[in-house]
Amino acid sequence: MTDRVPSPDFSYAGETLCAERLPLPDVAAEVGTPFYCYSLAGLTRSYRALEAALTGLPATVCYALKANSNQAVIAAFAQLGAGADVVSGGELRRALAAGIPAGRIVFSGVGKTRDEIALALRSGIRQINVESEAELDLVSAAAAGAGVTARVSLRINPDVDARTHDKISTGRKQDKFGIAIGRTLPAYARAADLPNLAPAGLAMHIGSQLLDVAPYRAAFGRLAEQVRVLRAAGHEVKSLDLGGGVGITYRDETPPRFEDYAAVVRETVGGLGCELVFEPGRSLVGNAGILVARVLYVKDGGIRPIAVVDAAMNDLARPAMYDAYHAIVPAIRPQKSQDWVEMDVVGPICESGDTFAVARRLPPLAPGDLVAFGSAGAYGSVMSSAYNSRPPAPEVMVSGERFAVVRARQTADDLIRQESVPDWLGSA
Ligand SMILES: *Cc1c(COP(=O)(O)O)cnc(C)c1O
Repeated sequence: MTDRVPSPDFSYAGETLCAERLPLPDVAAEVGTPFYCYSLAGLTRSYRALEAALTGLPATVCYALKANSNQAVIAAFAQLGAGADVVSGGELRRALAAGIPAGRIVFSGVGKTRDEIALALRSGIRQINVESEAELDLVSAAAAGAGVTARVSLRINPDVDARTHDKISTGRKQDKFGIAIGRTLPAYARAADLPNLAPAGLAMHIGSQLLDVAPYRAAFGRLAEQVRVLRAAGHEVKSLDLGGGVGITYRDETPPRFEDYAAVVRETVGGLGCELVFEPGRSLVGNAGILVARVLYVKDGGIRPIAVVDAAMNDLARPAMYDAYHAIVPAIRPQKSQDWVEMDVVGPICESGDTFAVARRLPPLAPGDLVAFGSAGAYGSVMSSAYNSRPPAPEVMVSGERFAVVRARQTADDLIRQESVPDWLGSA
């Protein structure tokens, strides 16, 4: 089987792979390689599809910035009416800078610092999702110091296995996230008692790349149970934040449709009269982006040909980090497919983990050919590093036949400029 990019926004016009209506070789000629390429139509379609599935529910969609926090991507969602889920002070600043209203921002994360909490309070965001009882104390003290009331939700760890990759599973009791479900009532009572806190409700996020709605049904069911327990004890619970995690197709997976996910939401928490917050990341951007690279060398490996490309694990970490599969397709697709061959596709970095694919069916590639990695819109560029002193790849956004560079290519000098040699070095 040969790969295909699982997105209608990156398809062939004749032999040439296009982003929407723009031939990718044209973009490569202008910006060089490697580069990330996002489709505005793709972002818009996924957002609208989720919005349509949630019709009738009192829902606020808070795009999870950590999937892709490029300013242009956030601004696109801001224009569609999205809020933001942020997990650091830096992401909070990015959300505000891109035009997300503070009243639609929620702040999650197990390790918020005093400064980050102060920034959230100054900015007047919708709510802080608190992940421990110690954090409740800190938020209360910071709010008292600032003379404001902090709206908080308690992130509960429901002890449900999302049945996804171990490293992105976040709702089992051994995971570091949230407050153990057994502590919901005492923690909520503490939030209600502490000065300058206004508990709004509960939150959860059980993991990422979920391919089945069953774990959601279990987790949201447990959340509903906790709402009843809290209300029976006289607490007000106005808001439920259901997190993100809906999976996407990388290869041949069938992720839940937004409609199926929304049906589980209606069935489990729809009747509680709570405002609902959603924090989708991957499902909105994952298949709206690709990474484009150029073949540097093709050599005879010990087992099969190896194509060395100019993108590496510093650009796209997911294969090295999670053994993730990304479709790899040629930018120019030859008409005859019978002479396609199995090849390994690797990057130039000095470790064997820098391997994108083993035994992938591709046309016989030659130096200079362009290839695209599918499903690279989420957890792609945001995870990039400058390992091997390779500056992170630039990012481009396409709409129709237009494109704009939305993150410039950095140079090695940019990296060096941030460092300095102490003047006492060598003078001892
Ligand atoms: C990562 C994360 C999300 C987004 O997860 P996706 O799988 O990308 O939808 C949402 N909420 C929280 C708290 C997260 O940490």
